[in-house]
Amino acid sequence: MTQDFSIRFLGAAGTVTGSCYLITAGTRHVLLECGLYQGSRDEEARNAVPLPIAVDAIDAVVLSHAHIDHSGRLPWLVRQGYQGPIHTQHASRALCGVMLPDSGYLQEQDAEWQNRKRERKGLPPVTPLYTRADAERMLPQFDGIDYGEAREIVPNLTLTLHDAGHILGSAIVELRYRRGGRETTVVFSGDLGWRGTPVMNDPALVEHADLVLLESTYGERAHRSFAATLLEFGDVFREAAQTGGNILIPAFAVGRTQDLLFLMAEHYDEWDLGRWQIFLDSPMAIQATEIYGRYQHLYETRMFSKNRIKPALPNLRMSRSSAESMEINNISSGAIIIAGSGMCNGGRIQHHLKRNVWRPGTHIVFIGYQATGTLGRRLVDGAAHIRLWGEAMQVRARIHTIGGLSAHADQPALLDWYGGFRNRPPVCLVHGEANARATLAAELEQRFGITPRLPAVNDTIAL
Ligand SMILES: [Zn+2]
Ligand SMILES: [Zn+2]
Repeated sequence: MTQDFSIRFLGAAGTVTGSCYLITAGTRHVLLECGLYQGSRDEEARNAVPLPIAVDAIDAVVLSHAHIDHSGRLPWLVRQGYQGPIHTQHASRALCGVMLPDSGYLQEQDAEWQNRKRERKGLPPVTPLYTRADAERMLPQFDGIDYGEAREIVPNLTLTLHDAGHILGSAIVELRYRRGGRETTVVFSGDLGWRGTPVMNDPALVEHADLVLLESTYGERAHRSFAATLLEFGDVFREAAQTGGNILIPAFAVGRTQDLLFLMAEHYDEWDLGRWQIFLDSPMAIQATEIYGRYQHLYETRMFSKNRIKPALPNLRMSRSSAESMEINNISSGAIIIAGSGMCNGGRIQHHLKRNVWRPGTHIVFIGYQATGTLGRRLVDGAAHIRLWGEAMQVRARIHTIGGLSAHADQPALLDWYGGFRNRPPVCLVHGEANARATLAAELEQRFGITPRLPAVNDTIAL
């Protein structure tokens, strides 16, 4: 272990969002991830805090996958003056091409909303973290690479990406540093997928590392089996057909949405979906679904054979414009509305909640992780009232949580993935809330006899 190869934890250390790690290799600096903090206003305030390193001292950026909690501060970094490359898998580059401009647009909207309030209070205006234009300007800095391709990104530091099976293009990041005839390897799991997901591959196993950064989002629990998940979906659709309202599904535009569409098509008759009008009310999810179509060679729809003709959803309507979205507001019964954001802290789903959450016939189905402090988490936790645009609303909708469609490995899967390393390398647990991290650490200790570290923000570890 020497000081010339080290990692400093700048985010997602004790939280799930804000992934960011600074790797020092000799005199060079590589930023691994530059993700957005998401959740409460306090959490979001961390996004504007400058990095503890001058932006022009960063030589390269590596990105594991396109999700905003990993990529969402990249336009901000570029706005601060970062001019170097951003290495990521080709499909992640394509997804970032739609996700980051969309994130910039949301930042602008949010600043505008805050400023209307601030003006009334006589407070000076805030500027958005970055704009859509900032995000569009930075896209040429992306460098797309293939899984398995070794690339020297700074002298003596070689990057290889392996399929993480989480969303399209998602990668496990392997960084090998050579000096004086020795090689030291750090492997970052990124977000690991789960064998239960219907579309993506299983995460690749890596056999050797000197240090592993392991995500721990679901470190404290096992997902329900996929078969049980399918039954739950069937029950929700049946129950909702009887109560006569709408079904809202807050969905992450990239990953969950494509899994969901695939399953709905596959179980169309069994779930009697022909009786519903189905809306994909998210321009971003529509574009992401198109990108999934372009990169089909990167995954096998594992539940079903590749050669089988893709089932269609004849009653699926793509609503791109806001006028099309607003038309859905006129429907009080018989609609399945899939809209973002996945944690309800923004996006079109909020408009649909405003129209539906107080109606007793409404069903809200959560199919993804809900971070502390988000509106989605409050609903999942059983809040009797919520506030939207300052207006209090009674929650009379039925809330369902279907955990088995998670894009993240559960505890057994995380343990299995670590078990793929032959040399039992030391582990740092990242990307997880306190309880998940502590529980996973105890399990790793019991099963493998290692004591994982639980780094805090700004901790540095020499490699
Ligand atoms: Zn992710
Ligand atoms: Zn993540």
